[in-house]
Amino acid sequence: MRDGSGSESGWQTAGEESPAAEFATEPFELVTEETRAAILGALAAHQAENPRDRGLGFSELRDRAAVDDSGNFNYHLGKLRPAHVRQTEDGYVLTFAGMSLAGILRAGVDAEITRGPVSLDGRCGLCDTELTVEYERRVLSVTCENDHRYPRDELPPNAVTGRTLREAISIQTCRTKHLLDLVRRGVCPACFGDVEREHQVLDAPQASHVLVATCTGCGRVTRSPVGVYLLDEPAVVAFYHDHGIDVTETPLWALDLPIAEPTVRSEDPLRLSLSVERDGERLTLVVDEYTNLLDSRRTPVDAD
Ligand SMILES: [Zn+2]
Ligand SMILES: [Zn+2]
Repeated sequence: MRDGSGSESGWQTAGEESPAAEFATEPFELVTEETRAAILGALAAHQAENPRDRGLGFSELRDRAAVDDSGNFNYHLGKLRPAHVRQTEDGYVLTFAGMSLAGILRAGVDAEITRGPVSLDGRCGLCDTELTVEYERRVLSVTCENDHRYPRDELPPNAVTGRTLREAISIQTCRTKHLLDLVRRGVCPACFGDVEREHQVLDAPQASHVLVATCTGCGRVTRSPVGVYLLDEPAVVAFYHDHGIDVTETPLWALDLPIAEPTVRSEDPLRLSLSVERDGERLTLVVDEYTNLLDSRRTPVDAD
């Protein structure tokens, strides 16, 4: 992360060069056709307005999608069936795949939106300089003057539109933790294939131990310090809670676990230990090479 080796050293990084070869092209045909997008949008809007009565009849749907040519409309509706739209006794409804596609379209793909940089009411835990937030090319970055990252991650434009950057950071933090939870279990959060996980030690003064997960299916590469993977562990949530800190609502830069430097307890098998302290109490966590928590202990700081 802080090794200064280039732009791909964020806590979480998507879209490095991909070895993936064969993609199905059907989803791209669906989203590049205006009438089909209009049908998906009309069904999504109707569903939101009528959650108990989701079906739309043929001409009703054509009116809502604002397509004049019946033949053209019928042709494109046929292309969406059966994967994205299905016909029920009550009319046409979105399938889960259709809702998922509507979500992707709504989340947006515009890479032109930029916001910030804006100063944050927070300082870097490593170098004590001011933190700033910036949104550019679908990436939300919280960084200090020395490029320490808290974190840097991809976020769709709709997550930022109409919100403050502080609110966007909160959304991103939630999402990052959710994605890392899947990665830790060996699952790609983008395409749900298997990821290859590897423990690496970076040339950095703190939090140098990272878990890198690479998806050979879609090319997504995720790289985060060991401590960030542990933020949702019950032992961690309870420790901070007992010291008056809600981990779920606290920005990552205000926590010490994300930048905690692990100690190597054993090389084979790899066992790492991380410690954080609050109000005279220390939490010590022991993890394996995939950040699985093997042991956690709470002791008074002056006990050693
Ligand atoms: Zn810094
Ligand atoms: Zn993938």
